[in-house]
Amino acid sequence: MLGDRLEQVRDSIRSAAQLAGRDERELTLIVVTKFQPVSVIEELSALGITDFGESRHQEASQKASQLAGRGLRWHFVGQLQSKKARAVASYCQVVHSLDRESLLEQLSQAPKPIDCFIELNLTDDPERGGVPISNLIPFAEKVLAQDSIRLLGVMAVASIGKDPRSEFAKVRDASESLKSIAPNANFISAGMSGDFQEAILEGATHLRIGTAITGPRPQSG
Ligand SMILES: *Cc1c(COP(=O)(O)O)cnc(C)c1O
Repeated sequence: MLGDRLEQVRDSIRSAAQLAGRDERELTLIVVTKFQPVSVIEELSALGITDFGESRHQEASQKASQLAGRGLRWHFVGQLQSKKARAVASYCQVVHSLDRESLLEQLSQAPKPIDCFIELNLTDDPERGGVPISNLIPFAEKVLAQDSIRLLGVMAVASIGKDPRSEFAKVRDASESLKSIAPNANFISAGMSGDFQEAILEGATHLRIGTAITGPRPQSG
């Protein structure tokens, strides 16, 4: 079941990559396992998945310590409170939700260097996480000034009710402008269960896919 859904998603990734004229080896599949039991991660790991996404510190840290030694890579994809940042940086390889100076400051003080994406806010709602696109370059300059942070690129979630392709086209434009000041920050974290094919067509390199692979989440609250 899990294996079948994983195969289906891999097939869809492959066809979107073909359609986009891209090499699928430039795509990283992150399976988002928030609210899922450790057994699901073990099963996926046996199926060859190495990258997992989580959105809550306590849950993520427990899973990471239970599964230590298996060579898994942990991606923090949810909103992150500054006071939890250093702890998250101790077990996560990548933070996808860097979006403000207080968080940057805490992450830069973590005991080891960490890879980060700057999260963009594609909505007009400042309550949502993310940096408005108009503020990307000034914020990126602050990130780039921190030696202990390696900036990978931009991350975004398509707004509900909007055409995902045009949302991701905005993200691609933002990525181009970021690359003009940071050529190595050329990755794009975009695409979830419902829209990863559109994201691939607009240049996404890191796909964050949950329920299309795991099935419905047991509970979400
Ligand atoms: C939960 C989550 C995902 C995965 O969502 P699905 O719809 O289950 O694929 C991706 N990105 C973020 C930021 C999430 O919170």
